[in-house]
Amino acid sequence: MDTRADTIAAVATAPGVGGVGVLRVSGPLAPSIARTLLGREPQPRHAHYAAFRDAAGELVDRGLLLLFPAPRSYTGEDVLELQTHGSPVVLRLLLARAIELGARHARPGEFSERAFLNGKLDLAQAEAVADLVASGSAAAARAAQRSLDGEFSQRVNALVESVVRLRVWIEAAIDFPEDEIDFLAVPQLAADLDALRRQLDELLIAARRGVRLTDGLHVVIVGRPNVGKSSLLNALAASERAIVTDIAGTTRDVLRETIDLDGIALTLVDTAGLREAGDVVEREGIRRARAELERADLALLVTDDARTDADLALLDEVPAEAARLVVHNKIDLADASPRIDMRNAHVHLWLSAKSRAGLDLLVAELKRHAGVEEGSGAFSARARHVAALERARAHLAAAAEALEVQRAGEIAAEELRQAQHVLGEITGEFTSDDLLGEIFASFCIGK
Ligand code: GDP
Repeated sequence: MDTRADTIAAVATAPGVGGVGVLRVSGPLAPSIARTLLGREPQPRHAHYAAFRDAAGELVDRGLLLLFPAPRSYTGEDVLELQTHGSPVVLRLLLARAIELGARHARPGEFSERAFLNGKLDLAQAEAVADLVASGSAAAARAAQRSLDGEFSQRVNALVESVVRLRVWIEAAIDFPEDEIDFLAVPQLAADLDALRRQLDELLIAARRGVRLTDGLHVVIVGRPNVGKSSLLNALAASERAIVTDIAGTTRDVLRETIDLDGIALTLVDTAGLREAGDVVEREGIRRARAELERADLALLVTDDARTDADLALLDEVPAEAARLVVHNKIDLADASPRIDMRNAHVHLWLSAKSRAGLDLLVAELKRHAGVEEGSGAFSARARHVAALERARAHLAAAAEALEVQRAGEIAAEELRQAQHVLGEITGEFTSDDLLGEIFASFCIGK
């Protein structure tokens, strides 16, 4: 069965008292449903004021009716939109009416899925629709809007074009075996591949920032027992979830606390001190702490100044890609003032979890890392995109190796083909049904 042939209907707004309700219908029956509800032929893309009635002719609500004939619509199909009072009852009755007239309930994300299948949006743009709906801050919303506008996709497509150009060059060389070595040794080829790899690295950095904006920042707190990690977590989260105590090593489990800083989700993970553990429970805590560190965007090293240099060694456990921030806690004991400084390539911050002095500096620094402040030009992205870019990078590195070290044109061409394929997964040029199902199932109904 061609699922696209049937007509779907769903409430496209979260119904609330006082707001506007929108019912959306997409598919071949949309024009006839529109005709029935309006009582005459609707004019395309024209707002009609209409009285919406149920099957018995009873008035449900008055509102606007708009018909967008295919292909100039969100889904690329015939689309009908009804704007009513945002009453859940009204919307339910109108949805039931649309179903009586031949539509079926839409699955989550089905409108965007159809838009994707009909070439109205690529996959990264469709994902941006969901990210826009879910965005928790103005910065995240702006970033999602940029991806929806296609800024991210355009940069991916530009990479794909460069990959294809290089592939064509190398494949042409392979076709003339007697000249192959000379062709592959042309400096311009190596230079172009180099430029392409730099371009991809830049996009990868931007995409990682996009993920942080979309998903929030994953912050892991590390430090010896008793330096005040739990206190800091509590001060930031303003909750009592982590147990604060004077006995070293009580924070045995890895605790998670997600807080919202101006709409940016910050996940703080308080870990058992990363010291050699005495018992089994503590060893398990340390194992989990290391696992959390692997996923950290930012490691927050807490120290109480007594042993800062020794504590800095803890940062060796942090993955290379993660940013680092050193927090000197308990300045109240030394009667010191909060401040922020660069030292040995790390940002250092002096504060007190207890008196809360300097907490504002920490919050500002966290927001900077979350990408809130560099909002200009940022676009939203997902972990799936970053993973694809990383795989593409590995293929390009292998292509460079094949070309420059082994002069193996066939291998280089194959690596480029794979890089092209992986990049195509981002925009949905190459995708499996499973992946599509997974992506669109996470959308809300009506989108
Ligand atoms: P953790 O083991 O690193 O999680 O440390 P805790 O948060 O449990 O704190 C250990 C002890 O230090 C507790 O008695 C806290 O009250 C105390 N503490 C934490 N932060 C501060 C601070 O900024 N100033 C002072 N004076 N004491 C603090």
